[in-house]
Amino acid sequence: MSNKQTRTDVILIGAGIMSATLGTLLKELVPDWEITVFEKLANAGEESSNEWNNAGTGHAALCELNYTVEKPDGSIDISKAIKINEQFQVSTQFWSYLVNRNLIRNPQDFIMPLPHMSLVQGEQNVTFLKKRFEALSNNPLFQGMEFSDDPGKLMEWLPLIMKERTSNEPIAATKIDSGTDVNFGALTRMLFDHLKSKNVDIKFKHNIDDIKRTSDGSWELKVRNVDSGKVERHTAKFVFIGGGGGSLHLLQQSGIPEGKHIGGFPVSGLFMVCNNPDVVAQHHAKVYGKAKVGAPPMSVPHLDTRFIDNKKSLLFGPFAGFSPKFLKTGSMFDLLGTVKPNNVLTMLSAGAKNVPLTKYLIEQVMLSKEKRMEELREFIPNAKSEDWDIVVAGQRVQVIKDTAAGKGTLQFGTEVVSAADGSIAALLGASPGASTAVHVMLEVIKKCFPQHVKAWEPKIKEMIPSYGMSLVENPELIDEIHTSTAQTLGLEGKKQYAYA
Ligand SMILES: Cc1cc2nc3c(=O)[nH]c(=O)nc-3n(C[C@H](O)[C@H](O)[C@H](O)COP(=O)(O)OP(=O)(O)OC[C@H]3O[C@@H](n4cnc5c(N)ncnc54)[C@H](O)[C@@H]3O)c2cc1C
Repeated sequence: MSNKQTRTDVILIGAGIMSATLGTLLKELVPDWEITVFEKLANAGEESSNEWNNAGTGHAALCELNYTVEKPDGSIDISKAIKINEQFQVSTQFWSYLVNRNLIRNPQDFIMPLPHMSLVQGEQNVTFLKKRFEALSNNPLFQGMEFSDDPGKLMEWLPLIMKERTSNEPIAATKIDSGTDVNFGALTRMLFDHLKSKNVDIKFKHNIDDIKRTSDGSWELKVRNVDSGKVERHTAKFVFIGGGGGSLHLLQQSGIPEGKHIGGFPVSGLFMVCNNPDVVAQHHAKVYGKAKVGAPPMSVPHLDTRFIDNKKSLLFGPFAGFSPKFLKTGSMFDLLGTVKPNNVLTMLSAGAKNVPLTKYLIEQVMLSKEKRMEELREFIPNAKSEDWDIVVAGQRVQVIKDTAAGKGTLQFGTEVVSAADGSIAALLGASPGASTAVHVMLEVIKKCFPQHVKAWEPKIKEMIPSYGMSLVENPELIDEIHTSTAQTLGLEGKKQYAYA
C-alpha cells in the first residue's frame, strides 16, 4: 500500500482509441491542461481498438446494409447512413489535420483506400439493393457508387467470390471506391506516442479499482499497480471513462445518478483469417452481406482485405457469440458484477426479451470450424479449410436501458453518459465504434465543457472544417473535404503501397 497522491486536470481511463482521441483533442484545445492516462494492460490499443480485435472498417455507410432500412411503403430510409457518413468524415478531417501538422506521420500505416461493396443474393434482396443504390447514389455523400447484377461485371469486381459459383440465384452488388480499411490499433498507438511527446503522463499496468467524488467536486481514483499491487490515489477535476467494455463497471462505481438503470450485454466475436498469398491476391475490397434472420446487426458477414503489419490478409466474419466477459482480457464474473439493485429489473427484462438472441449467440459459440467454413463458402464457394485460421476478436458490450420502447431495451449504438456538472463522462456501447471516435469525443467535450465550447470553436473548426455544418446540405464542402483528406491521407486513386 502506498500513500502517493496526485492532482491533475484530466484523467483518462483506458488507452483505447476513445481516450487517445479525447486526449489529442484536449491537448490541441488547451495545451497547458495536465492529463494523466491509466491503462491496466502493458500497451495502448490492446483491447477492442487492436487491429486483430475489430474489423477495421472505416464505417461510412458505404456498404453496411443495416444502416439503410426498408420502410413499410417500400422506400429506403437513408437518414442513418447520412449521419454515419458525416461522422466518419469528421474523423478523416481530424486525422488529416494531425498529419498536416506532423503530429502523426505515415498515414498509410493506419488508413488505406479500399473499395466498399455490398453483395446480396435472391430476387427480393437484389430489388432491395437496387432501391438502396438509387436512394444513395443520388446523394452527394455517396458519389461514385455503382450497381451491377451482371455476372460478367461482378466477376471483374469480385473474382474470388464469383469464381466457381454454381447457384443460379440472382446476385447483385454495389461498389464505391472511396472506402477505407483502418488500422485502429496503429492509430491508437500513434496518438498515444504523440500525447507522450506532449508530456501526457501515461501509466500502463495501472488498474482503476474505484472512483469516488471528493468534497470539492473532483474525482478521486483508487489506482492499483498491476505488477507491485501498490495502491495510489489520484485526483482530477475531470475524468473520462474510456474503459471500453470495462466502462459500465467504472461508471457504476462513480455512483452518478445518470449511470443508474443501465446494464450491459456482452457479445463476443470471432473472425477467420487467410494468409495464403494466392487467395489474398484475388480479393481487394470490403464486401458486406446481409445478416441472417435472428442475427444481431453486429454479425453481418463480411469478407475484407486487411492491411496489417505491412501485410495483406483476408478476414471473414464476425461470428458473434456469448461470453460473460466485458473485455477480452476480462473475467467470467463481469456480467454478474454489473447487476446492481438499481438495474436488476432492467437486466431481467432484457434477459426475458432476448432469449432468442442469447440462444442464437450460444449456438454460434458452439459452431465447429467446418460449420464456419460453410458460412464462408456462401462468399467463396471453393474456400479451403487449410487456408483459414480462427482469430478471437474483441468483446462488444451493448447497452441495456429503459426506453420508450420498454424496460430493458437492448441498444446497438454508442452512448455518452455524463454527470450533470460535466465532471465525469463514460462511453458505453461499440457501434459504429472507432470510426466515429472524433464525433463522439466532440460530444463528450460539448457535454462536459459547455462553458469553454464557444471559445474553443475557432480551433475546432480549424481541425474539423465541417464542424457544426451539415455536409449533405453543402455539396461544395463535401468536394473540398474529400479532395483535401484524400490527398493528405493518401486515399486518392489506386496507389500501390509496399504491402505484400
Ligand atoms: C468484433 C469487433 C469488430 C469491430 N469492428 C469495427 C469496425 O470495423 N470499425 C469500427 O469503427 N469499429 C469496430 N469495432 C468497434 C471498435 O473496436 C470499438 O468501438 C473501439 O475500439 C472502442 O474503443 P475504446 O477506446 O472505447 O475501448 P478499448 O479499445 O477496448 O479500450 C479500453 C481500454 O480500457 C482499459 N481498461 C478497462 N478497464 C480498465 C480499468 N479498470 N483500469 C484501467 N484500464 C482499464 C482496457 O484494458 C482497454 O485498453 C469493432 C469491435 C469489435 C469487438
